[in-house]
Amino acid sequence: MPLIIKDEYPENLFREDGKRLDGRDVNELRPIKMEVGVIKNADGSAYLEWGNNKIFATVYGPREVHPHHLAKPDKGVLRVFYRMATFSVFDRKRPAPGRREKEISMIVADCIEPLLFLELYPGTSFEVFIEVIDADGGTRCASTTVAALALADAGIPMKSLVSALAVGKIDGKKVVDLSGIEDKAGEADFPIAITWYNEEISLLQFDGDMDLEEMNEFLDLAKNALKDVHQIQLEALKSKYIKLQEETIQTKENNDKKGDE
Ligand code: UDP
Repeated sequence: MPLIIKDEYPENLFREDGKRLDGRDVNELRPIKMEVGVIKNADGSAYLEWGNNKIFATVYGPREVHPHHLAKPDKGVLRVFYRMATFSVFDRKRPAPGRREKEISMIVADCIEPLLFLELYPGTSFEVFIEVIDADGGTRCASTTVAALALADAGIPMKSLVSALAVGKIDGKKVVDLSGIEDKAGEADFPIAITWYNEEISLLQFDGDMDLEEMNEFLDLAKNALKDVHQIQLEALKSKYIKLQEETIQTKENNDKKGDE
């Protein structure tokens, strides 16, 4: 893929062979890798690589609320902090959290809150810290997806996971999973999240140009692609427990051997 300098966008977002600039078909996701339990100091954590996006999510809770005045007597409080590293984007990002980071923190919180049983944890807090190390389009969706995994890794009871991705329109064609350049140079960007316990949409933002019929087509496109994202989340959780099981069996075998000697 050609190096895109600052605001110089390419004229075409499709190559001559009909593929997108990064070689994908219209309904193809970027490569996705997820792993849980990656940060030892947190109660739960997850790491995600989604195309060129690299994102960590960590979870602390349920624990005492700081500052105390935020505590609620009848339920737990969820706080989400989305941050982009200064070196995560082409232009140096100002280190202080900006309006966009506050907006995305709120979006992620809105997607995650319905999954939790906060009423069972009065007076406590659940804090989710998201660090975008490298950003290339769709970080709000990737952050929502990885935050849900970190909560599950923390062993916090949840109704289900939530998965998110952006669909959109580039050069007049509907595509799934916009890359950074497609997000900026395309005609429409449509981030969507689905909570799996009720298959309801918990995030729907829209930037661009489309009619109602197109919107329904986009929703179908997103729902199909999100099933694959959900599967990758589940595999990441499962592989943690498979690894744990293997380690336990190995430890037992080693102990048995020592006992025999
Ligand atoms: N971006 C950037 N500088 C910023 C914020 C964002 O270069 O200060 C890039 C980054 O690659 C991001 C993309 O623009 O993924 C699209 O940003 P948007 O606000 O649409 O959010 P996202 O698509 O990441 O959810």
